[in-house]
Amino acid sequence: MATHMKNKCGPHCVCIKISPSMLASDMCHLCAQAKAVLAAGADEIHLDVMDGHFVPNLTFGSPVLASLRKSIPEAFFDCHMMVSKPSQWVADIAKAGGSRYTFHLESIDSDPLDVTGMCQLIRSHDMKVGVAIKPGTGVDALRDVIALVDMVLVMTVEPGFGGQSFMPQMMPKVLSLRQQHPTMDIQVDGGLSPTTIDAAAAAGANNIVAGSSVFKPGVDPKVPIEQMRQAVLRLGHGLGDEAAAALAQTAAKRPKNAPAAAPVIAPVPPPAAPATLSPAEALKREVGYRAVDDHVRSGMAVGLGTGSTAYYAVERVGAKLASGELRDLICVPTSERTREQAASLGIPLTTLDEQPALDVAIDGADALDRALTLVKGGGGAMHREKMVAMRAAKFVAIVDESKLSFGGLGPSFALPVEITPFCAKCTMRTIGALPALAGCEPRLRLGSAANNKIDGDQPAVTDNGNYVVDCLFTKPLADPAEAARQLTAVVGVVDHGLFVGMTAEAIVAGPKGVYVLKPE
Ligand SMILES: [Zn+2]
Repeated sequence: MATHMKNKCGPHCVCIKISPSMLASDMCHLCAQAKAVLAAGADEIHLDVMDGHFVPNLTFGSPVLASLRKSIPEAFFDCHMMVSKPSQWVADIAKAGGSRYTFHLESIDSDPLDVTGMCQLIRSHDMKVGVAIKPGTGVDALRDVIALVDMVLVMTVEPGFGGQSFMPQMMPKVLSLRQQHPTMDIQVDGGLSPTTIDAAAAAGANNIVAGSSVFKPGVDPKVPIEQMRQAVLRLGHGLGDEAAAALAQTAAKRPKNAPAAAPVIAPVPPPAAPATLSPAEALKREVGYRAVDDHVRSGMAVGLGTGSTAYYAVERVGAKLASGELRDLICVPTSERTREQAASLGIPLTTLDEQPALDVAIDGADALDRALTLVKGGGGAMHREKMVAMRAAKFVAIVDESKLSFGGLGPSFALPVEITPFCAKCTMRTIGALPALAGCEPRLRLGSAANNKIDGDQPAVTDNGNYVVDCLFTKPLADPAEAARQLTAVVGVVDHGLFVGMTAEAIVAGPKGVYVLKPE
């Protein structure tokens, strides 16, 4: 029933889409106004469906959509469902002609279906799947969802009403998503206009919902639509159709030893205001900042880690350099993503070839025990991270409390091992048979190397052109140091995620605040 004719791009292709929100139109003339913005160059029609429960407002639902669909059969109707039980309306919206069904991650708690079930239900009704997050929800909450959806909507106002002011402090979320997912559709919704578009475009949003700025009395909608489209072209990742298709193809067919096409990252907007970060995100920022405040001094050589917590350490270094509080730093990034973030902040960068001795390195971890032995490599970057950590006089781990595995390493987070692709099965069997890894189930990482979820059917390839084996354990490793030694001795193993005896201190964020652990 649903039609997607107008939207000629497939999922995850980063085409620019301008999506006027009918909430801001003169609803007496809903159909005429929708036709007018489409004629003025809009790509989609955004419908804000509100149920009075999930948000304190009522708008419209499937009967209104059905009427619009009847009059504008070729349009792409982007249904933003601000409802408390999103699964309840999937069939109705599909029947009425919805093209994309975007549900709120926060609404899943009150829904009988889980996220996977929700996505399957939407797809079974032949609609594209979007997932939305409110300003208080961090991008980490999307970790398990992204592989299931066609688009992520980052709200740039609190949902519920039109005409609100754009929240630039949401842009680090967009930037972080864009850095991790160069070819994903990222939508922003709330307060977007020709005056606020630059920040969103620079952060990497390619699907722009705009209400009041498009439906402005006395303004030809062509003008703001074209201005916003140009801004995304100029600053962002919303590539033209041809370039986007090429990028999607490159990402899919990338040769094993080639790194992903590096997106061009424009300057990061100012740091988020404290009040608008989720509590978990605020704690991550606190530990990231604390690590820099405690350990980085002018004149130092610093290793910069990768990940959502290390992101804030990099942000702090950039801010302190900009303010003049720190001077003469030279930094070595552990990944392409960190290199881009640091470069955008004006942080002077080098490599271990030029700067083999570092004063300090700061990085996150996936698990740690009481001896501060770490498991790293959830993001597939453990080899480079270890090279940097080993070159540092002091290595500081920054984590949230959920990473503490005082009962032993292994069960809380599968141990990643990087292996050469040559005879990978043989190497995996060898790893599984190591005495110090008794009980381990080695599993080849599939899909993206940047997470240990099965999100593809081809082996994941690291920045170094290798495969990753995730070793799953039901019981803790008896002797992590011995496991590290035995893994290192296997020919075919490039590196592993155990960091033994390297951590000088861990800065931990817990619900009650930030504290420091020394190895025991
Ligand atoms: Zn909306």
